[in-house]
Amino acid sequence: MAQPMTHEPEVLVVGAGPAGLTAATYLGRFRRRVLVADGGAPRACWIPVSHNMPGFPRGITGDAILARMRDQAVEYDAVIEPGRVEALARDGDGFVARLNGRDIRIRAVLLATGVVDHHPDLPGVQDAVKRSLVRICPICDAYEAIDKRVAIIGKDDLGVREAAFMRTYTDQVTLIHIGPAEALTERAALDRLGVTLVEGSIDDVELQDDYVRALCWGGQVHAFDMIYSALGTTPNAELAEALRAETTDDDLMKTDAHQATRIPGLYAAGDVVLGLNQIAVATAEAALAATAIHNRLREQDGWTV
Ligand SMILES: Cc1cc2nc3c(=O)[nH]c(=O)nc-3n(C[C@H](O)[C@H](O)[C@H](O)COP(=O)(O)OP(=O)(O)OC[C@H]3O[C@@H](n4cnc5c(N)ncnc54)[C@H](O)[C@@H]3O)c2cc1C
Repeated sequence: MAQPMTHEPEVLVVGAGPAGLTAATYLGRFRRRVLVADGGAPRACWIPVSHNMPGFPRGITGDAILARMRDQAVEYDAVIEPGRVEALARDGDGFVARLNGRDIRIRAVLLATGVVDHHPDLPGVQDAVKRSLVRICPICDAYEAIDKRVAIIGKDDLGVREAAFMRTYTDQVTLIHIGPAEALTERAALDRLGVTLVEGSIDDVELQDDYVRALCWGGQVHAFDMIYSALGTTPNAELAEALRAETTDDDLMKTDAHQATRIPGLYAAGDVVLGLNQIAVATAEAALAATAIHNRLREQDGWTV
C-alpha cells in the first residue's frame, strides 16, 4: 500500500552540507517526507577543489559538489528551506523543532550540523582559504603539498601532530606556535621529525598570487608555498546538548553503528560526529542514518516482519 503523501514532514534533517543532503536523497527515495533546514555556508563550500572525492579523478569544487547533491535531493522531493533550527525538543515519541518562527512536529531528526573552523587571525584569510593559500585539512590536500615549503600555524600539540603528518610529503615543514609555551608538550618530537619550530606571534602576512606567501615575525621574513591552520574546530552541537544527547569533551556527538544517539529518534552524521572529517565519511554516515530512520519508522508503522 502506498504511503499517504501530505505536506507535513516526517523527518527533519538539520544542515544542508554533504551529510544532510545525502540523507535527504536517501530518505526521499525511501518515500519519506523530508524537510532539510539549511543554515547556510556549509564547510564544504570552502573547498577550492577536492581531489579525493570518489568519482571525480580530475577534482571538483566544493560548490559543485553541493549543487549536485542539492539537485539529487530535490529530485526525490526533499524540501530544502533556508533557516537555522533555533530549538529542538522531544514531543511524545517524536520531536518539535522551531524553524523560521514556526513549530514543526516530526517523527525523527538527523543532526548534520557540521563544525566551524577556527581560522588564523590573518588579513584576507577567508579569500586565502578559497585560493588554497591557507589550508585547513591535510588529509584532504597534503598530496598537493609534496616537496612544497609548508608552514603550520598551531596553538597546542595539534600543530605538532599536523607537522608530523606533513613530513611524509615534504621535508620543509615549519611549525609556527602562537599559543602559550606550556601548551606545546611534544617539542622533542619536532627535533626528531626535522620540523623547524618558531614561537611567538605573527607580525604580518603577505598573501601573494598563488605561489609564495611571506610571514614576518621578529623582523625576519619567511617564505612558504602554503600555510596550514591547525587551530581546530567547534562543533555545531547546541541542539544535541539541549536534548542531552551524548557528546565528547570536545562537543562532538557520539552515536552507535547506525548513527543513532541515545535519544530515540535522534540521529547524527558528518563532521559533528566523532570521527574523520571527510565528505566520504559524512555521506556514508548519512546513508546509514537515513536507512536506520526509515527502518525505525517502518517498524513503528507495522511495516516490518
Ligand atoms: C578548506 C576545506 C577543504 C576541504 N577539503 C576537503 C576535501 O578535499 N575532501 C573532503 O572529503 N573533505 C574536505 N573538507 C571537509 C569537508 O568540507 C567536510 O568533511 C564536510 O563538509 C562535512 O559535511 P557536513 O555535512 O557534516 O558539514 P557541513 O558541510 O559543514 O554542513 C553543515 C551544515 O549545517 C548547517 N547548520 C548548523 N547548525 C544548523 C542549524 N541549527 N539549523 C540549520 N542548519 C544548521 C551549517 O550552516 C552547514 O550548512 C574540507 C574542508 C575545508 C574547510
